Amino acid sequence: MRIMITGGAGFIGSALVRRLIGETRHTVQVFDSLTYSGLLSSLASVAGSSRYTFVKGDVCDAEAVRGAIRAFQPQAIAHLAAESHVDRSIDGPDVFVRTNVVGTSVMLQQALDHWRGLAGDERAAFRFHHISTDEVFGSLGESGRFTETTPYDPRSPYAATKAASDHLVRAWGHTYGLPILVTNCSNNYGSFHFPEKLIPLTIIRALNAQSLPVYGDGSNVRDWLFVDDHARALQVVLENGRPGETYNIGGGAERRNIDVVRTVCASLDRKHPRADGRPYAEQVVFVADRPGHDARYAIDASKIGEELGWTPSVSFEEGIDRTVDWYLANPDWWRPILDERYGAERLGAARV
Ligand code: NAD
Repeated sequence: MRIMITGGAGFIGSALVRRLIGETRHTVQVFDSLTYSGLLSSLASVAGSSRYTFVKGDVCDAEAVRGAIRAFQPQAIAHLAAESHVDRSIDGPDVFVRTNVVGTSVMLQQALDHWRGLAGDERAAFRFHHISTDEVFGSLGESGRFTETTPYDPRSPYAATKAASDHLVRAWGHTYGLPILVTNCSNNYGSFHFPEKLIPLTIIRALNAQSLPVYGDGSNVRDWLFVDDHARALQVVLENGRPGETYNIGGGAERRNIDVVRTVCASLDRKHPRADGRPYAEQVVFVADRPGHDARYAIDASKIGEELGWTPSVSFEEGIDRTVDWYLANPDWWRPILDERYGAERLGAARV
């Protein structure tokens, strides 16, 4: 397949691109405007492939999207381009509305124009795959898990814009017949993760002998998904998902934030002990909670397992060890980010 991947220079998008180029015969066009979280250094390993092209462009720019689609003639579009960080959405929601809502509607309209011009088999086989989040479902109590039919209840500006984009995608499928797929996944982690997110932030601040901030009392629960497992799930859905369907993707690894940070610290203690021999967990500090912090997310991923045979393959502890190894081995990837893009400071504390 020729697959156009928006947001392919981001964390999850680049994992998908590396997988498709490295382990399949698909051809990939990345379409990405290279915002603060878009990094060509995450795509360096595929840059020499004849099955990979990169187009710098904004998903809100219909002309640019149309040009890229005309040139590449995609048989599928995987739409990952988004503003992705809840804390940044608290500080500045406007760009989230622009990219996540307006950008998705532009992508849908351009995909529809392209799809309408296809003939026969190509038209039947075309897919628009929208990548979304479990945050659209709101917050859980101590029990229960999100299924594909859980009602939407987004509670942060980020989640609200992703919910809006999911609705737009389903509307284009229902109204115009565009063959759409939606996936909603839980919190990802792994290599090439931008250092603003909890796990890479903890690793990097620990190595820099800085405090390790944990929001509130650290009891908020997320369901952690290793990014390479997610990339494999996205491939499976792109290739075999039933048009019009939604699939939840989760790692089956619910952890409290404080336990996530402690697991990272324990991994670092084994792999890169502190010079003074003390545990990294001593650097943990509890800080003011994120405004509106959702208590618990958990995914029921049985549908994708039963229909498409996907289950996560990497346990949380193994995934953390692999992630810590990667950050220890790749300071050349993350140090320039700290110097040029983000200094590991607190975001989203908000004036509420
Ligand atoms: P990311 O921030 O690492 O990457 C986003 C990418 O989109 C970047 O390469 C950026 O340059 C690009 N981009 C942003 N605005 C753009 C625009 N206007 N035009 C073109 N490109 C633009 O995000 P991520 O963590 O890789 O997330 C990818 C997708 O997965 C997002 O849609 C996000 O909502 C969703 N998601 C992420 C997680 C997670 O845990 N990271 C969980 C659930 C869902």
